[in-house]
Amino acid sequence: MKQVVVLSGKGGTGKTSLVAAFAHLAAANHVPDAPSASQIRLVLVDADVDASNLELVLQPRQLEAHDFVAGELAVVDPELCSGCGVCETVCRFDAISIPSAPGPAYARVDEFACEGCAACLYACPQQAIHMQPQLVGQWFRSVTPYGPLFHAALRPGAENSGKLVTLVKQMARFLALDNSYPLVLVDGPPGIGCPAISAAAGADMVLIVTEPSVAGLHDFERAWGVAHHFGIPVAAVINKADICPQGTQQIERFCHEKKIPLLGIIPFDVAVTHAMSSGRPVTAVGGPAARAMCTVWDAFLQRLGNLE
Ligand code: SF4
Ligand code: SF4
Repeated sequence: MKQVVVLSGKGGTGKTSLVAAFAHLAAANHVPDAPSASQIRLVLVDADVDASNLELVLQPRQLEAHDFVAGELAVVDPELCSGCGVCETVCRFDAISIPSAPGPAYARVDEFACEGCAACLYACPQQAIHMQPQLVGQWFRSVTPYGPLFHAALRPGAENSGKLVTLVKQMARFLALDNSYPLVLVDGPPGIGCPAISAAAGADMVLIVTEPSVAGLHDFERAWGVAHHFGIPVAAVINKADICPQGTQQIERFCHEKKIPLLGIIPFDVAVTHAMSSGRPVTAVGGPAARAMCTVWDAFLQRLGNLE
């Protein structure tokens, strides 16, 4: 079983469109020269837990929903609190305070600022504080027309997105191993922070989707830097390549310099936007971008080698 993570460094490069197209092509076995003569069964993961949108294109049917509990939050018992203010002085995050409003003076916790360090719990002379696990999101197992999908939703402002990414990836991996799926395809989060690193961890390949803009090249370099740092093989795709031929040439030069296999270039195509807004992979709609994605899929399978 192989695991491939699609990253972009920045949002809006077309990463999710490509993952949706790959899912469609795998199910349709669209490419005549693909290594396998049969469909390629895959498990999909949307690792963009802060703003998942693969489900908007693949229209999954949800089978399971699970709470995701991570980190702790300080909770004050107003009956025990004397309003002494010791907790306020020890909190390094300005997350607990005694409001000056009329009424009983007891400490209040700002749940968005509390880091769960428990310093206030140990400092409180009245034992008025306890720590409570936080429900920060949910993860889901769903089914799409192209295979199972694991995805998640983090609550606004919640932390621990890296842990949630790791969790959905693990669940996908277990399902793939138990049911002999040869490929886990992960739609990674944008950026190069903790969630993107969690998504890339343990991957057999990172496929970077970039675009010919100043930010596109800059973030492509950064995403490549992360994968390279962890020793993960990288391949690249240039999307909307014709909107700036000069930028495309710069990316090609960078790929050449760093020996990054370029699996293909995809032209700008308004059909991609139409397909996304109608909730379909662009390869189910057709057009120049869809044809280019078929070629990229072929090159991707060649690069990936034997899928068992
Ligand atoms: S330290 Fe304890 S008793 Fe004092 S204000 Fe904070 S919660 Fe209340
Ligand atoms: S747990 Fe830490 S961050 Fe939260 S209120 Fe207490 S001292 Fe502040």
